[in-house]
Amino acid sequence: MPRPILALIDLLALSQNLDALRRRAPHARLCAVVKANAYGHGIERVLEGLRGADALALLDLNEAERVRAAGWRGPIWMLEGVFESRDLDLCSRLGLWHTVHDDGQIDALSRHKTQLAHRVFLKLNSGMNRLGFAPMRYRSAWARLQALPQVDEISHMTHFSDADGESGVAHQMSVFEEAVRDLPGERSLANSAALLRHPDTHADWVRPGIALYGSSPDAGQHNSAHWGLQPVMSLRSQVVGVQELRAGDRLGYGSIFVADGALRIGIVACGYADGYPRHAGTGTPVLVNGVRTRTLGRVSMDMLAVDLSPCPGATVGSEVTLWGRSSAGVVLPIDEVAAAAGTLGYELMCALATRVPVQVLKAS
Ligand SMILES: *Cc1c(COP(=O)(O)O)cnc(C)c1O
Repeated sequence: MPRPILALIDLLALSQNLDALRRRAPHARLCAVVKANAYGHGIERVLEGLRGADALALLDLNEAERVRAAGWRGPIWMLEGVFESRDLDLCSRLGLWHTVHDDGQIDALSRHKTQLAHRVFLKLNSGMNRLGFAPMRYRSAWARLQALPQVDEISHMTHFSDADGESGVAHQMSVFEEAVRDLPGERSLANSAALLRHPDTHADWVRPGIALYGSSPDAGQHNSAHWGLQPVMSLRSQVVGVQELRAGDRLGYGSIFVADGALRIGIVACGYADGYPRHAGTGTPVLVNGVRTRTLGRVSMDMLAVDLSPCPGATVGSEVTLWGRSSAGVVLPIDEVAAAAGTLGYELMCALATRVPVQVLKAS
């Protein structure tokens, strides 16, 4: 028998999250971000749940090829554009939209031989200072693109640094509006946080990623239920051993947990080699038979320990939900586990290890 660990990918939850985001941005088209192997969920696995999207966005050309091979005929947007000139051949062949964020990419386009003019998204650096043209240089970049026979439609984009936080988007919005003012072309600004928190950013195309997968983009302030989002990924395992501790007994590597009284604990087949965060200390929430309890001591490579006091009926073989939905429907948001480990739901999803078997729950 294989180790009992399993990741479930719920395509009904995914398509319902997509619907929930559409209702929040009813006038925009929705580009579903599937970079990083669909945030760890598996690009091929999620496509069926994203059929209702108007476009897909990602970064890696080999992921674009996988999306086409899996039968997606709609638009695909390369969010960082090409990394070298010859990538443009694949853009032409697969009909990809691509971001243009620097002069080198315009040079490459000007030398590119193609029958098919490309749709591009010119990227403005509105203050995040990662990728994009500075506001002063934006119009000249646009004019250069406009003059190229290789370029068909030019759209405008920027990306927010603080859509999830206090500082908000007002400053970057005004920089964007000033830079693109009277230029023709569609506009795209909003990631998940902006889509949910700042309706004034919706424009022509919204680009949600994390919220589609059921994690809250501003988890410190609002949980996923607040935004009407359901977990798409559930990580489940089982209790594979039980120990009865007495006062003073230690547990696990480093003996950092010491029982202060009698304590029944379960050993779970899940560790950091499965993608569970090693930095999640004692007290991280976990479900045993759908009952909320806590982890104890240090997470090891293949195992972790949980407190069985709230679930005295639990024994070897009992279901453990590390995050997501238990088989009985109890939800433990991935964001709570992430917070206990000092990180975000994004990182945990993306870190799901390849050794974890995955089962897809179809929408119908
Ligand atoms: C990743 C990414 C997104 C999606 O961000 P979320 O926070 O996951 O919604 C949108 N736009 C760009 C340019 C991105 O790189």
